[in-house]
Amino acid sequence: MKWLRRIGLLLTILLMIGLFYVVGILVPGTDKKMNPVVAHTPYKISADTQKFHDSLVIADLHGDTLLWRRNMIHRHDRGHIDLPRLREGGVNIQVFSTVTKAPRGLNFDGNSANAPDNITPLAIAQFWPVRTWTSIYERAAYQAERLQDIEKSKGSHLIIARTKADLDQPDGTIIGILATEGSHPLEGKIENIQRLYDEGYRMMGLQHFFDNELGGSLHGEVKGGLTDFGREAVTKMRQMNIIVDVAHSSEKVVRDVLAMSSDPIIISHGGVRGDCANTKKRNLPDDILRQIAANGGILGVGYFNGAICDITPAGIADAIIDALKLMGPNAVALGSDFDGTVKTTLDTSELAAITQALRDRGVKDATIRKVMGENVVQFLKENMPG
Ligand SMILES: [Zn+2]
Repeated sequence: MKWLRRIGLLLTILLMIGLFYVVGILVPGTDKKMNPVVAHTPYKISADTQKFHDSLVIADLHGDTLLWRRNMIHRHDRGHIDLPRLREGGVNIQVFSTVTKAPRGLNFDGNSANAPDNITPLAIAQFWPVRTWTSIYERAAYQAERLQDIEKSKGSHLIIARTKADLDQPDGTIIGILATEGSHPLEGKIENIQRLYDEGYRMMGLQHFFDNELGGSLHGEVKGGLTDFGREAVTKMRQMNIIVDVAHSSEKVVRDVLAMSSDPIIISHGGVRGDCANTKKRNLPDDILRQIAANGGILGVGYFNGAICDITPAGIADAIIDALKLMGPNAVALGSDFDGTVKTTLDTSELAAITQALRDRGVKDATIRKVMGENVVQFLKENMPG
């Protein structure tokens, strides 16, 4: 009996060490490794630009923070977004997108929907509820619930915008908007649009890195157009004033969506193709971007390699200027892709560096105001549920 007790004690100790390793070392280590910020000396912001930056309404169309086991209420030294850093950067509106399936070996050329999924081990290692281990829908629902918990917690001063009226908040309140990264959480069922809406989702990406039930991904195997289910889903989303995001959709899907109606759509994170090999693979052709702008849609310019060519604040400013030339001053916004397993040169507390870089390049203050946030506010006021 003595021996049995000793073995029991030993197993308990080993289990504790294992848990400590997963929660204390493995999970935060993965987060830090997957969402790095390139080391740099502090960016120089002139007093005048800082004052101007502080006067801006700032909106970011895409951040994947809900994927990570990181209590957003506190400041962290890993990843790109938490509430204290959003406040330091002057952010008023943050779109929280939810990643629910990611094929191993993620690339811009072609990913199989049947490749082993990276989110399953992440969900298990981060102690997500068991229901999320096998259901993609539940992963989207659970991530929405995480943001709802933050909304409910005293002192967070974060609200999830569900209607246009929710966009009018006192200074100091951060407005969160829930978005799916791809519509595979529908699991092929149209009624799941309503269920996700009830969880607070007001923006839905159609695809992520692989072809799904709605149609082809820009990085899928077939890269086809909208399926019948895709058409039905887009129609339903529009009836419900859910914003349609084509950030990872195939060219054919985007052309099909544009052919269905002239209702505005967004590219939550991306850029223009330009001359870079990577941006040519990750971004949509110029004529589609022009059409999206003509319909009153917007492009959120990402801060990562692929969306843009040079990820420094100066490079981000250059990509914004290219987008402005192509789409005009009312159609360009920020779409960081922070915490989306991307390497950046800044986190969200350092957004003034982008304002400074735009000013250094001679972009007019009135245009900077639009790009940094006013375009998104205008778009949401026109397109969210009343
Ligand atoms: Zn993405």
